Amino acid sequence: LPADAAAPALHAPELAPTPAFRPGQPRVLVVEDNPDLRHFLHDVLVDEYNVTLEEDGDDGIKAALADPPDLIVTDLMMPRCDGETFLRTLRSRPDFPNVPALVLSARADDALRERLLEELAQDYLTKPFSPQELRARVHNLVTVKRTVDILQKELQTQASDIWELTAGLVESRKSLQRSFTALQVADRRWLGLYENTAVGIALADRDGRILSANPALQHMLGYGPDDIAGVSLIAITEASERATTARNVHGLVDGELPAYHTQKRYERRGGGYLWANVSASRIPAMAEDGPMLAVIVEDITSRMEAERSLAATRAELARVSRFTAMGELVASIAHEVNQPLAAVITNSQAALRWLSLATPNLDEVAAALHRVNRDATLAGEVIARIRKFLRAGELRREGIDIARLLDELLQMLQAMLTDNGVQVRVQLPDPPPAFTADAVQLQQVILNLIVNAVDALRDTPAGARALAIIVSAEPTGGVRIAVHDSGPGIRPESEAKLFDAFFSTKPDGLGMGLAISRSIIENHGGRLWLDRTQPGGACFVFTLPDA
Ligand code: ADP
Repeated sequence: LPADAAAPALHAPELAPTPAFRPGQPRVLVVEDNPDLRHFLHDVLVDEYNVTLEEDGDDGIKAALADPPDLIVTDLMMPRCDGETFLRTLRSRPDFPNVPALVLSARADDALRERLLEELAQDYLTKPFSPQELRARVHNLVTVKRTVDILQKELQTQASDIWELTAGLVESRKSLQRSFTALQVADRRWLGLYENTAVGIALADRDGRILSANPALQHMLGYGPDDIAGVSLIAITEASERATTARNVHGLVDGELPAYHTQKRYERRGGGYLWANVSASRIPAMAEDGPMLAVIVEDITSRMEAERSLAATRAELARVSRFTAMGELVASIAHEVNQPLAAVITNSQAALRWLSLATPNLDEVAAALHRVNRDATLAGEVIARIRKFLRAGELRREGIDIARLLDELLQMLQAMLTDNGVQVRVQLPDPPPAFTADAVQLQQVILNLIVNAVDALRDTPAGARALAIIVSAEPTGGVRIAVHDSGPGIRPESEAKLFDAFFSTKPDGLGMGLAISRSIIENHGGRLWLDRTQPGGACFVFTLPDA
């Protein structure tokens, strides 16, 4: 058997009858000089393909150029024009289409075969080979060729080319790579920020449970990298704010709120509170993940503590200065009134003595009574002078921006209000009413009313401690301000004495708050009273004219 013979030796090279050209069936050009093998190839392929047979490269070139096939099957060692020259000639023709080639090689042709595979051929078969193997290889190559042809045709209708498609694919891959690299850079930058910023950052699920948190937040809340995941931002919110937080979280997840910002306290693990400015926003759902929350937490504990101790100091100062002012007032009254009173006593005693004589000295009595009258008048004048001084003194009227004044006041009192779990609602008309007053004294009045309300609310269950400050314009000009709490209200027996100096029902109360407040308001030409018509706790109302 010759070395290049196929496995089944065909001693009677009778060609199977070649059927007529069947359109639609792929065309295979077979170039083989050995007649046995040529016939064998023909017989294996003829059922499925339109097969053309040639005996050497030269004839193969002519046949291929005349009618380019879908596949070339060629031997390598052939007289006149070998397989390599045959393929190289075809490939060098720019008008010759991309037709795949399957080369049939002997074992000895290893090096040549590899070179051909690199440049000219798509596949090879080493002799001897089985009909199945041949059919399989031919089938694969023809299928690929036909697919490429179809694609090419599709692309031609779009005035494009398969190479453009490939180039496009490569380009989009490159740009994908570029954007991936950009993403990596952005990722690294973000990661650097996430890891090193002093601001707490968390990603939370739809129930407010932490999915991941940066080291700053772990530290703020007292957790470590291994136990922070799963911690519920709602559960660790301080009790009085918990329900509000749950509402906010669900509002965000349901898309009712785009984002929210709030100031509140978290319970730290291991005790204590974290005062925080919190901003949360929604990350819309992606692929199979539901919506998530991005939460930014700023630690303001030390600022709040400083503010709180400032507020405490202020409150203490106000208390002390009230005492001092009272003390000074009392001392000056005592001093100025004491002298004429002492004289009144002396003179009235003298008058009594002159009257008690056997013969009363009425002239002396009259003189003593004159002096009594003079000194009593003097004492009265002292009192009037002090009153006048108190009234006229220190009143510095200016235009009041009531929104700002309330804002400043509530900020100053925030620590006290949150500590006591008091929810404050401010109601302001737009635009706010115009009026003038002494800003410091006006703040003093509202402060007294708020502090009284907070004191009263301590007896009310947490969660129901509400305070409303309602500002409205007076029909006759000026302003009306109501401070209304949800506390126990005023006992009937206290009502008449509320505004009296030194009336207090508190163990450490001074009983001057409402008295001073009323005198301030009256000095302004306004009125302060207890509004009994309002339901709920106490409602104190005052008016100030616009003058
Ligand atoms: P003090 O606060 O020092 O007691 P005030 O003159 O401010 O003095 O208040 C007098 C009293 O009025 C209080 O002790 C309290 O009994 C009563 N009172 C004032 N405001 C309220 C309020 N909002 N709710 C209930 N009682 C109040």
